[in-house]
Amino acid sequence: MTFGIDDLPVRDELRGKSPYGAPQLDVPVRLNTNENPYPLPEALVERIAERVREAARTLNRYPDRDAVELRTRLAEYLTETSGYHVGLRNVWAANGSNEVIQQLLQTFGGPGRTAIGFEPSYSMHGLIARGTGTGWISGPRHDDFTIDVPAAARAIAEHRPDVVFVTTPNNPTGNAVPAESVLALYEAAQAAKPSMVVVDEAYVEFSHGDSLLPLLEGRPNLVISRTMSKAFGAAGLRLGYLAAHPAVVDAVQLVRLPYHLSAVTQATALAALEHTGTLLKYVEQLKAERDRLVAELRALGYEVTESDANFVQFGRFADAHEAWRRILDRGVLVRDNGVPGRLRVTAGTPEENDAFLDAVRELKKEQSA
Ligand SMILES: *Cc1c(COP(=O)(O)O)cnc(C)c1O
Repeated sequence: MTFGIDDLPVRDELRGKSPYGAPQLDVPVRLNTNENPYPLPEALVERIAERVREAARTLNRYPDRDAVELRTRLAEYLTETSGYHVGLRNVWAANGSNEVIQQLLQTFGGPGRTAIGFEPSYSMHGLIARGTGTGWISGPRHDDFTIDVPAAARAIAEHRPDVVFVTTPNNPTGNAVPAESVLALYEAAQAAKPSMVVVDEAYVEFSHGDSLLPLLEGRPNLVISRTMSKAFGAAGLRLGYLAAHPAVVDAVQLVRLPYHLSAVTQATALAALEHTGTLLKYVEQLKAERDRLVAELRALGYEVTESDANFVQFGRFADAHEAWRRILDRGVLVRDNGVPGRLRVTAGTPEENDAFLDAVRELKKEQSA
C-alpha cells in the first residue's frame, strides 16, 4: 500500500473525494471543456505583450490591490452589453469565476451554514462549498432539466440555505433559466432567511436571451457572476468577476487574499477588454455552430436539450459512458458529466463539429444495426 491522502490528517469532509477535472487527453478533436476553439487574434496577442511589458517594469511592487482600472473597464463592458448601468463599486474580480464563487462562499457560507444548487448543474458549486466548510444541498429539476420552481422554492423554505446558486445558461444541460424563475427563487430565499442568490452567468454571451444584470436593481442579496474563460476565449488567463450591490463588493474584500490578482493578470485582462468587439464576433460564429449541432443531432434522432450556451447536451444512451468511449475511439473527446443517458459536446470550429457529427452518425448506425 502506498501512502496516500487518506493517510494524512486531512479534514473529514475531504476523505475519499477526487479532485475536479475533465480528462486532458491528447486527441485530435477536444470538445469536452467548453473552451472557445479560436485562439486570440494576433492584434490582441500583440497588445497583451505590450501591456505585460509595461506591467513588468513595476513588478517589484505589489499590484493594485483593488484592481480599480480593471474593474472600471469590466463595469463599462457590462453596461455596454446589457444597457443596465453598473459602476466600479458594483464589480469585483478574481482569478477565474471559481475564485469569485469561493470568495462568496467564504463570505456568506462556511461552517454551520449551507448552500443549495439545482442539479444536474455546475459541480464546482458543491465542491467549493465543501472546500469552504459549507453544507451542500442538492435541489430538484424536472426531467427536461428545467428548474422545478415550486419544488425548488419549497426546498429553500425547508432548508433555509444561506446561499442559493442558479446557473443560467446551465452547465452541463445548456438551458437558460427564465428571469421569472430567478425572481421566484430570490423571493423564496428572502422569505426563508434572507440568503444570497448567486446567478452564475458563465455562458450568457452565447445566450439567445439577455443577461439578468437588470435584476440587480433593488436586490442587494443578488450576485451575478461572469468569466472571461468562455466567450472571451481566455480560459488560460483566469479572470472571473461579479456584479452586485457595492456592499457585496465590500464584503468579499474581507476574505480575499491581499494582492490576489497579479499585475500580469490585470494587464492581460485590460488588453482583452480593448478587443471585445472582435472577441464577440467569434461568439456569433459559435452560436451559429451551436444551433447547427442542435439541429443536426435532432435530425439524427438524438434527444437534445435546448441550448443557450456554447455546448449541447444530447442522448439518450442506454450507457452514456460506453457511447463516450466509442466517440473517443473516433478521435473526438466529449464530456460524460454523469447525467444518466446524456453526453455534452462543446461547439468547436466547423471542422471539429463536422468530425464530431461524423462520429455520432456512425455511432447511431452501429446502435440501430
Ligand atoms: C466554466 C464555468 C465557469 C468558469 O470558471 P472560471 O474559473 O472562470 O474559468 C463558471 N461557472 C460555470 C457554470 C462554468 O461552466
